[in-house]
Parts: sequence; structure tokens; C-alpha cells
Amino acid sequence: MPNTLGDNHVKGLAFETLALHGTRTNADKTGALTTPIYQSATFAHPGVGRSTGFDYSRLQNPTRQALEETVATLEGGDDAIAFTTGMAAIACLMELFAPGDHIIASDDLYGGSVRLFSAVSGKNGIDVSYVDTSDIGAARAAIRPNTKAMFVETPTNPMMIVSDVAALAGICKESGCLLIVDNTFLTPYLMKPIALGADIALHSGTKYLGGHNDALAGFLVTARPELSERLRYLYKTTGACIGPMDAYLVLRGIKTLPVRMDRQQGNAMEIARWLKEQTRRADPAVTAVYYPGLDDHPGLELSKRQASGFGAMISFTMKDEALAHGVLERVRVVQFAESLGGIESLITYPTMQTHADVPPEVKEARGITSKLLRLSVGIENIKDLKADLEQAIYGESQT
Ligand SMILES: *Cc1c(COP(=O)(O)O)cnc(C)c1O
Repeated sequence: MPNTLGDNHVKGLAFETLALHGTRTNADKTGALTTPIYQSATFAHPGVGRSTGFDYSRLQNPTRQALEETVATLEGGDDAIAFTTGMAAIACLMELFAPGDHIIASDDLYGGSVRLFSAVSGKNGIDVSYVDTSDIGAARAAIRPNTKAMFVETPTNPMMIVSDVAALAGICKESGCLLIVDNTFLTPYLMKPIALGADIALHSGTKYLGGHNDALAGFLVTARPELSERLRYLYKTTGACIGPMDAYLVLRGIKTLPVRMDRQQGNAMEIARWLKEQTRRADPAVTAVYYPGLDDHPGLELSKRQASGFGAMISFTMKDEALAHGVLERVRVVQFAESLGGIESLITYPTMQTHADVPPEVKEARGITSKLLRLSVGIENIKDLKADLEQAIYGESQT
């Protein structure tokens, strides 16, 4: 389905404009500004051996196609494939690999990815080893003759460790393995892994792309046609295709991605600084803050080089477990819930929620302790957010 803006026009447009108008298609002659929801499982053929380009919605669907074109354009990819969830996208991606293959993954990773690698990929004969990918020497040393891919998150979930995508792309190219970057935290608005040399960028579209905590989605964005052909074949075969309604919701979410992200990361910077101030009190309740935009964050300079912002995710540790539980129970504006990236601020307890299935000794070694909290900063008024965190940390009497 051609984009009404035309490829030549798309080239000169800024991200904010493409996020809005990249979704316009000319499939509808009414002039509708929003992409229609093609809630159809199948499509009629005009004749034998002829097709409108749409046969069956597991193969193609116009709403999904508009979403895929938009995400491919924003990520600077050759193609984007839209899945039911981020995990479905990663599960399909793993079908590229065969028994005996080896994959290197960042050692601080979304808990669901770790569970997939251990519970599913392991049984399928794929060996995953975990490395601190912010250490280029360590990443290079981990490459074996059978290494087929490096799977990287940056900043990581939840410890906010930043890896150098271009440097990792260099060592992956040398050794002939794929560089896969989970770009869920920064989104193409703030970082473009494919332009930095990655072969595949992936997303939980449930998070910032959708942005409203009302739909699940996942994406694989490919740098080259041969990758997209292999993945599209696996996609139509395994069938985790996003439905038209959710595709529509994510398309609508993407229209406001830049304005949401600007506001969310503005709020996040202010909250990160405020939390940092709390660590300087005598007998502090907050003992450490992890946010790549803070002056003492080891990934600050690298983040400035490879991304245009720091995102809106903050992790922080409390003095003890009881205080961490207290914060989760006392927040009122901020909601105690899993997930991230939406317009509502959410606080999560990684050790019991997102990373519950990561072995305890591994969690402890990485700092995912019973004192660690993770905050996804939303678009609320900053004064309300700060006041809420203050009362949750110190109790009503002290605010
Ligand atoms: C949430 C998340 C996923 C999984 O996505 P779902 O849409 O929940 O399946 C993968 N990676 C990261 C970084 C995430 O935050």
C-alpha cells in the first residue's frame, strides 16, 4: 500500500512529522486522516491467480501494514514486522537459530527474554551466554566460532547500563554474527540502532510506541531484505500477527510519541536529580539512583553520542526492603504496576515482578535486590509526581 506522502517526500521530513503523517495511506478514498481498522480475516480475489495484494490477515492486513511501514520508516529499517507482543517478536526471532548455535546476550536483560532463552531456546539446543556488553573487550572475548548473534539492551532493564551499539556492530561484523538491539527503552525517537550498525532492532510496542497502556505489540525491524524475507516466512508460518484493532491503537500512539517522550524524559530528569539529592541526606532513605542522564552515570557520555535523549526509566535503591515495600504501598499518583513507557507513571518491583524468574544469585550479583525499585515516568505534572514520591518515601508527616 503506497504511502500518500511518497518516498521522495518522506526523505526530507523530520521524525515528528513522519510519526504523524507516515501512517496516512491512500487505501481509503474518503480522505480519512486515520487509518481504518480492517477487521477482516480474509480478502476476496478478483480472479484466478489474482490478488488485491491482501489474501488472508495472517499474511497481510492493511491496518497492520500501515503500522509496519510507519515503524520501518521511523527506525530507518528496510522492513518492520508487527507481532502480538514483544515476546512473540523475540520468540519468532529465535527461530532464525538452530541447535548448536551460540548467542551472546547482555547480562542485564528484560526478565522475559532471560526466561525465553532458558526455558525455550535452551531446550532447542541454542546456547546463550551472558556478558556485560558495556565492556567491549568482554563482548569480543565471548565470541565463539558458532556465535550467530549478539542480543543487546541499552540502557538495560532495570540497571540502566549503556552499551556502545556502533562498537558492538563493528565486532559483530568482524565475526559474521548478527547484532540485535532491543530498542524498547529509547524508541527510534531517541536512538536508531540500525543507523548505528545493528542488523535487527526490536521492540515491545506495548511500551512507548503504543504509549497508553491499552494494547500489546511487538516489532522486529530489519536492516536488509534477506533478513526480512527469512523473518516474514517464519512470521506467516508461526502466526503471532498483531490484530487490526491493536495495530490501530499502536499507530495512534505513535502519532504522539515525540511529544510524550519529550515530556516523560523531562519529568524523568527532574525526578532522577531529586532522588539523587535524597541520597545525600544523613542516613538516606534512597541509597542509589540509576539514570543515564545523571552526571555520575558511567553511560552519560556514550548516551550523548549514540542517542538524542536518556529516556524516562529510572531505577533506584532504598535503604532496606521494608522501605521499598512501603514506597510501593504508599504511592497514589504513581501506580504500582508492571510495564513501562505509557503516559501514566508506574513503579515496579523488579525482583518480584519483571525479573521474578531470574535465579536469585544472578539477581543479587546484578543489583536486582529486594531494595531496588524501577520507575517509568509518565506525563503527569512534575509537582504532583515529586510530592507523591516524597510522601511515599518519607511518609505524610514530613512533607
Ligand atoms: C516489555 C519488554 C519486552 C516484552 O514485551 P511484551 O510486549 O511485554 O511481550 C521486551 N523487552 C523489553 C525491554 C521490555 O521492556
